Amino acid sequence: MSAQARPVFDFPLRTRLFIDGSWCAPETRQRLPVVDPSTEETIVEVDAGSPADVDRAVRAASRAFRAWKQTSGAERAGFLRAIARGVEAHGEHLAALQSLNNGKPIAESRIDVGDVIATFDYYADLAQTLDVPEEAIAIPSSDHRAVIRREPAGVVGLIVPWNFPMVTTAWKLAPALAAGCTVVLKPSEFTPLPELELAAIVERAGLPPGVLNVVPGTGTEVGAALTMHPLVSKVSFTGSTAVGEQVMKAAAQSIKGVSLELGGKSSIVVFADADLNLAVDLVVGGAFFNAGQMCSATSRVLVERSLAPALIARLADRVARTVVGDPFAAGVQMGPLTNRPQYERVQRFIARGKADGASLVVQGEAPDGAGYFVKPTMFVDVPTSSAVWREEIFGPVLCVRSFDTEDDAIDAANDTEFGLVATVVTRDEARGERMAGALQAGVVWINSPQLIFPQTSWGGYKKSSIGRELGPFGLAAFQEIKQIVRAAAVPD
Ligand code: NAD
Repeated sequence: MSAQARPVFDFPLRTRLFIDGSWCAPETRQRLPVVDPSTEETIVEVDAGSPADVDRAVRAASRAFRAWKQTSGAERAGFLRAIARGVEAHGEHLAALQSLNNGKPIAESRIDVGDVIATFDYYADLAQTLDVPEEAIAIPSSDHRAVIRREPAGVVGLIVPWNFPMVTTAWKLAPALAAGCTVVLKPSEFTPLPELELAAIVERAGLPPGVLNVVPGTGTEVGAALTMHPLVSKVSFTGSTAVGEQVMKAAAQSIKGVSLELGGKSSIVVFADADLNLAVDLVVGGAFFNAGQMCSATSRVLVERSLAPALIARLADRVARTVVGDPFAAGVQMGPLTNRPQYERVQRFIARGKADGASLVVQGEAPDGAGYFVKPTMFVDVPTSSAVWREEIFGPVLCVRSFDTEDDAIDAANDTEFGLVATVVTRDEARGERMAGALQAGVVWINSPQLIFPQTSWGGYKKSSIGRELGPFGLAAFQEIKQIVRAAAVPD
């Protein structure tokens, strides 16, 4: 790894909790070390919240809600645009901070910054559309008049993971603010730095105190307290399926609404008529972007048998040549995994793939020594019973199997408890459409990289999600619906 490639981080890092418009210390004085995954050195220690801090933050959000819900959509749009411009102005700083804390190559962090800006701008546009008169509902054979209003859900708890720290936050925070909700955000304990900096940008955008509060800390202390707090109306969670289940159970105790964005085990289906260069690019992008730490990783490759030898040879070559290293070094395509538990988990999966009889075709290069670097890995002829075929690995491990017919491909792709995304590569348009209809997934890309537009939707079938983010669906997740029925006239 080239030490010279690292930028000097001479900007002050935010390390406190952000509650009621102030940067403050936690009640318990607990601290969390934040580790650079490329070096395993501690970057800084941040204050870690406790249930008492969650209570303070929720109460601040609850007080702020009274005025914030009365603001017009146009006013909230102004704040959202100011946040977008703030992110734009500090884009390089945010990208560097994220690559330092999460380990992804700086070019990928810049893409994330662009996504955050686009998300805030999009929800500014949607907020602007909220200043409309009540929606009248035509009721035949009644002289009563019924209308529908959409109101903000209240104080919402947002809980996010470490793989796309700023992006997963923006997908929740922008629509929550647009809807008129106030927020308590809990970043991942592994990657609190980008979110704390985002809070500083929100503060500079002039948002009233208490509208956004950020409480870093562990899931068991801060996350659980947020999920169970009686003044929180709704929890929007992105993370693992196992923790999503706990969040749902905890929320059930106070009958809170939940939105869940959970794990995936997604397929890319490559037909024999595919453009081979395109197929190779799409497989590599879908499996190794962000070192494979993507809920939407299409790390299961299903290839039509006649194309399998050519595709596997090309993929093996690309995997072997993947440049793994310092996220700030020129030419690096893959950084380290973000944290030690994930590094160890992925190593266990690779060992299980070998033990289960999958054929290891190639393991690429990765730096030795410090840092959670994993060699990009590719298995073929993977038994469908193997954990590497069935479970979410969340690392740079590609698993390939062949199929004979379109129906076989559909059955194999749908044979999973998840249903987040799928990719189809074929020159046959009609087949692409048939596949899009048959695949149980919330997003299907046909001959396309994993483009995600804020205007559309995000989320999946089965154990991958409850609800949808992005688009109007993301806004609706933070709204309540109120019906008002008015009598035509009050009798004397
Ligand atoms: P995780 O479930 O371990 O943690 C997610 C968040 O939940 C963290 O902030 C954590 O502190 C918190 N948490 C932990 N225990 C909690 C509890 N009992 N109550 C409340 N909060 C708690 O997930 P992770 O390891 O941070 O992220 C990886 C997972 O996230 C993967 O499974 C991935 O597929 C999923 N993910 C899904 C999407 C999506 O859009 N579907 C996007 C990104 C990541």
